Amino acid sequence: MREITKDLSKIPESLKNSTTEKHFNSAIESGEFSKKSDRYKQSDTKEELEDIYHKKCAYCEKSLLDGFKHIDHFRPKKLYHWLGYSWDNLILSCDYCNVNKRDNFPIAGDKQNYSGEEFSDIHNLSSNYDRLEKPLIINPERDRGYLKHIEFDKSGQISSDDEKVKTTIKESKLNRSELRERREKIFTDFQNSLNRKLIKFPKNLAVIKDTIEEFIEDTTDDVEFYTFRRYILEKPDKFFERNLLPIVKKVVTRN
Ligand SMILES: [Zn+2]
Repeated sequence: MREITKDLSKIPESLKNSTTEKHFNSAIESGEFSKKSDRYKQSDTKEELEDIYHKKCAYCEKSLLDGFKHIDHFRPKKLYHWLGYSWDNLILSCDYCNVNKRDNFPIAGDKQNYSGEEFSDIHNLSSNYDRLEKPLIINPERDRGYLKHIEFDKSGQISSDDEKVKTTIKESKLNRSELRERREKIFTDFQNSLNRKLIKFPKNLAVIKDTIEEFIEDTTDDVEFYTFRRYILEKPDKFFERNLLPIVKKVVTRN
């Protein structure tokens, strides 16, 4: 999970045009979202979301470059038929997370219902709904400050002391073996390469420093599992043994 910034005034054209308005009106009339409507996944919306989410899944941070990508509704369109085309309700997700989430939307407050909102109103309703419904899962676009409650260990396991983050980890299955193993591999590959250099060039710390610098440079917004990589750099004590720890700390503080 990451904190994502979306400009709610920059609504993709296809979500605002008259064809979408017709689809919106028929959803209101029938009281349900048509399974056949694809107005929320036109190419302009998809491209904008790919840009905002750095082509990664909003929930698990897996790269979507080659895999399936879905436009997911944070509030499921089956339960909130009037929010199917709402810009502030659309996020990018991978195949697994999309199917896993389905129509599940746990809340602690009162479920909101359609109350006469016009087509032009639908793109910015979520913050008000959040206040009233108190969702139990994190929304990467609206929740802030939760990253400090996310912890990882060397095996790539994610955990938290915060209830909302905990629920999100559980609901989104963020410890499923595929993700955990891929995170673990990021750390072990990094550590192994540092150890190899340490054995080969015991007197030349510059070589090891370069490898750490490379890892830092590669930790960009676009990279998979950015949050885990950042965490390794921020909490080296939790990851490295005494042979590597001082040098990792030195390079990391310098950056
Ligand atoms: Zn995912």
